[in-house]
Amino acid sequence: MTTIYLDNNATTPVAPEVLDEMIPFLRDLYGNPSSMHTFGGQLHRKIEEAREKVAALLNAHPEEIIFTSCGTESDNTALMSAVESLPRKKHVITTRVEHPAVLNFCRHLARKGCRVTYVPVNNLGQLDTDFLFRAVDDDTAVASIMHANNETGVLFPIAHIAEKLKERGVLFHTDAVQTAGKLRLDMKSLPADMLSLSGHKLHAPKGIGVLYVRRGTRFSPYVIGGHQEKGRRAGTENVASIIGLGKACELAAQFLQKEASYLKVLCDRLEGALLQACPDARINGDIENRLPNTTNMSFEFIEGEAILLRLNEFGICASSGSACTSGSLEPSHVLRAMGIPYTAVHGSVRFSLSRYNTEQEIDRVIEVMPGIVRELREFSPFGREKLACPPE
Ligand code: PLP
Repeated sequence: MTTIYLDNNATTPVAPEVLDEMIPFLRDLYGNPSSMHTFGGQLHRKIEEAREKVAALLNAHPEEIIFTSCGTESDNTALMSAVESLPRKKHVITTRVEHPAVLNFCRHLARKGCRVTYVPVNNLGQLDTDFLFRAVDDDTAVASIMHANNETGVLFPIAHIAEKLKERGVLFHTDAVQTAGKLRLDMKSLPADMLSLSGHKLHAPKGIGVLYVRRGTRFSPYVIGGHQEKGRRAGTENVASIIGLGKACELAAQFLQKEASYLKVLCDRLEGALLQACPDARINGDIENRLPNTTNMSFEFIEGEAILLRLNEFGICASSGSACTSGSLEPSHVLRAMGIPYTAVHGSVRFSLSRYNTEQEIDRVIEVMPGIVRELREFSPFGREKLACPPE
């Protein structure tokens, strides 16, 4: 059975071109870039070339790119750097729908004495920006507001937010892990101070991330040790993955526009057909303003996990709102923050596509999904009434 992989917001396949670029650095060129000898030292130049490619994707300066181990480390570093660089300020602003890489780090900061404001969203997943701007005070060190939500794909107006926060002198970090490589990011026109991205969401391998830090921004390193990354992130460089990420960014920049249109067509086709074929189905999130590759749908009165298991039997990989964060069976904090009815939160499924998906694959999902929904509604031990109970 062939796999139909529609879980690209969780991770993406490594592009063949990326793998080809990486292999020599795993097999033959295994030196340490910090070594004095040419065997290792030559890798330094290669890392700088990759840094230039990442910078080009963001329209940034290569000096503004710090390689990290993942999106989570980039997010943690941005927040920690902000509060450490501004020790007199103790207020942090974020949203109720961030990835745990930001949310749980904010909880950690709260335990260390910071005051954290969580900005709410409405039932389309749109951010309450008035609430955000009202929350800013003289004590605010940083606001961390994601660009696109990983569960719903809903986009936040980060350009507007960054402008306003700049006027108020508040550091602004955005988690762009889900947008890098899918939408154009231009750091010359977006006045964010810091931005996170993660290699494995854009066809580079897992274990490599980037923190963009605008030149002139106060910065305090989080991983402390050697002098790598100009003393901003210690640890021997993950050379092969850095090279791979450089190539992935080059490919993304090349195909961005074409890919976005392609993915939107596939996503719309899937959504439209499922809405028509499955009763009590709905889309979660603002369809006018979201990633082109993501659709979060609810099939009410059944469990998302049960749908995933049945899809899995057909070789189709998707995820549910609840399980997408580290296998937890807790109902999605994102959908709950949106005030989505309990019956719909539990029946949510996220399909997230990539450049490697085809129309035939989408048609296969359209073919099998109505039967799965029908069958689960008939046989689920959780009948309509049970699931219709209020959560508390
Ligand atoms: N931020 C967002 C929005 C994400 O979707 C993810 C991963 O799913 C992360 C951060 C964490 O990235 P990583 O897996 O590279 O640590």
